[in-house]
Amino acid sequence: MTRFNTQLVHGLPVDDNNTGAVNPPIYNSTTYAFERVDAMPRYDYARSGNPTRDFLERQIAQLEQGTRGFAFASGLAAIHAVLSIFKPGDRIVVGDNIYGGTYSQLNEFFTRWGLKVESIDTQDLEALTAAVQGDPANGIAPAQAVYFETITNPLLKVNDVRGISAVAHRYGALSIVDNTFVTPYLQQPLALGADIVIHSSTKYLAGHSDVNAGLVVVSGEELANRIYFAQNRLGGVLAPAECDAVRRGIQTLALRMDRQQENALAVGRYLLAHPLVKSVHYPGLPGAGDQRLASKGLKGAGGVLSFEVVPGVDPADVLNNLHVFRLAVSLGAVESLAELPCRMTHFELPREERLKVGITDELVRLSLGIEDAADLIEDLGQAFEIAYEEYIKRHAEADVFSQLTSGAFA
Ligand SMILES: *Cc1c(COP(=O)(O)O)cnc(C)c1O
Repeated sequence: MTRFNTQLVHGLPVDDNNTGAVNPPIYNSTTYAFERVDAMPRYDYARSGNPTRDFLERQIAQLEQGTRGFAFASGLAAIHAVLSIFKPGDRIVVGDNIYGGTYSQLNEFFTRWGLKVESIDTQDLEALTAAVQGDPANGIAPAQAVYFETITNPLLKVNDVRGISAVAHRYGALSIVDNTFVTPYLQQPLALGADIVIHSSTKYLAGHSDVNAGLVVVSGEELANRIYFAQNRLGGVLAPAECDAVRRGIQTLALRMDRQQENALAVGRYLLAHPLVKSVHYPGLPGAGDQRLASKGLKGAGGVLSFEVVPGVDPADVLNNLHVFRLAVSLGAVESLAELPCRMTHFELPREERLKVGITDELVRLSLGIEDAADLIEDLGQAFEIAYEEYIKRHAEADVFSQLTSGAFA
């Protein structure tokens, strides 16, 4: 068997054409001819399957070491299909620090649909055990699934896929992992015991901020059949041209991620030493736990980090003055992005919930691209300078104001 980087480039051929083209073709046909009325063609209608999507689905299944892969029109369409395999009344235990859109889908759509959703700190395996176990004596059946993210967003807490999956399995629950932040390059959750892996391939896998896509990989035929039903019947499939864009992105995943991690480490070190920065969240920083990463089956910390500015400094003054970093949501692409979670990516979360999980109003999230680290650091440096000038101005005004109101000028 070939190794990971070779698999990224070549995938598993679908063997559907004899032209010698080194790239799989994009089939735009929605319908495929039958040879005879009683023939069972491999493809009949593109929503149910087509060779371009098959290529991508086999590629991601191989990379995640799963039984079968499925491509969707977005990460949220993928999550919708996965959660639809449960039934009204089922209880799902969910990480308390998940993607805002997933939080909203769970709490504003799936609760209406009858799923019972319980948030828990998945780092606390004891609390998780209690939540999954339920209270059968009092009519609370064990949970049907645990749903969490490999590295949480935007605080970059590392979840222990092996430990969490073991707890889920002890009570017959499925372990479902959103692996968007680390990709199979850094961790393969199925190999660590998870049952279903989800990706917003809009992010690292496609990698160029030019396609919305979602991928699911499952372990076992039974789950594969349930997800295939959801894919085909809910119909949120990824179109052939977009399948090809994700396939192409995947080919350079390792190269991009290596640079993104280097940049995250360089910027993280710079931020740690900056007087306007109160704290830096990046599990790849020395001392933050390289060992902890390895013990949790992670080969790296990825390219996203977050930090808090010191009290009094307005994070918007930093963000509004960046030039190389673009002020934008999303992550995982070749260009560096910066954003304010409380106002941009995590506004769906009620403020109390946000503060409870540590997403303060001062928290800034960066997604590192593949630019020169020195340019990124210079960009942050000049933005911090402006933010500091604004801080001094505000304080000078406040001083004058307090002197006025205290009668100092009377
Ligand atoms: C972006 C994202 C999603 C949603 O994916 P879309 O492609 O935007 O629908 C889900 N989970 C995580 C961790 C994400 O970052």
